[in-house]
Amino acid sequence: MVKLAVRMLGTGSPRPDLERSGPAQVLWIDDLPILIDCGEGTTTQLLKAGIPPQTINHLWLTHLHSDHLFGYAQFLIGGQGDGRRELTVVGPVGTKKYHERILQLYEEDINYRLSLGRSPKGLMDVKIIEIEEPGEISTDIPAKVTAAQMVHNVTTFGYRFEVGGKVVVISGDTAPTPEIVKLAAGADLLVQDSAITTTSVYTKGENKEFSKVFEKLQNEHCTPTQCGEIAQEAGVKKLVLTHFLPGADGDEAYEEVKKVYAGEIVIGEDLQIIEVDDEPVEKPNSKIKREVHS
Ligand SMILES: [Zn+2]
Ligand SMILES: [Zn+2]
Repeated sequence: MVKLAVRMLGTGSPRPDLERSGPAQVLWIDDLPILIDCGEGTTTQLLKAGIPPQTINHLWLTHLHSDHLFGYAQFLIGGQGDGRRELTVVGPVGTKKYHERILQLYEEDINYRLSLGRSPKGLMDVKIIEIEEPGEISTDIPAKVTAAQMVHNVTTFGYRFEVGGKVVVISGDTAPTPEIVKLAAGADLLVQDSAITTTSVYTKGENKEFSKVFEKLQNEHCTPTQCGEIAQEAGVKKLVLTHFLPGADGDEAYEEVKKVYAGEIVIGEDLQIIEVDDEPVEKPNSKIKREVHS
């Protein structure tokens, strides 16, 4: 039987935060780690999680916003320095250009390292797969992967990983859309963008610029209630909220979700491990249609 689990590496946002690293998580398919997004601090978080960065040979990017990419140069060059000799990166169109620009920016540094006799493998021969159309992605990982286009201000893909009858979905950044409901249908686990979780600095108008930005974010991200509605409609068994701004009120988010969603709720924390249960967790009064999971 296949074992699936998600390790949250970073549950934060573009805003620097001591409590939450930049967006990134690892999906474990048995003993194969797939890194999804690569925000600030990803390599450090991998080390803290006991996952040597060089053991990651697969990176999937949901979109090319800075907060999901800030950790890429360190992951790429540092991980290769630690011995990674193979890397495949999957992401939207533009991923190749981004990767090549990083190599250009650090050209002198890389040349120096190679001049020491280091292998160029895993650095100069990275395989980049750009997703041009949503749908099933042909890939070398042992899972059926479907990408769906989310509602965000740059091309953003949510990913559905199906393996051994189990389903894990990563939303990426998105406002509510029927596409995420479809993508997450019957999922065992949905990791969902909940960037519009209450934080006093945004909602109490302590900073006018922040408050204005927060209002506009409604077109790009979800509130906890919207996350719950998506998970309920899709019949998701376990919902993990992530992408929190500094000071986000997790307890309040939990209460909001509970009102609209009958499954299991996890307010994501950095380094948390979330297992995909072998057996569905049945809850009293659950309104979720369980037949979709069988
Ligand atoms: Zn984004
Ligand atoms: Zn983001």
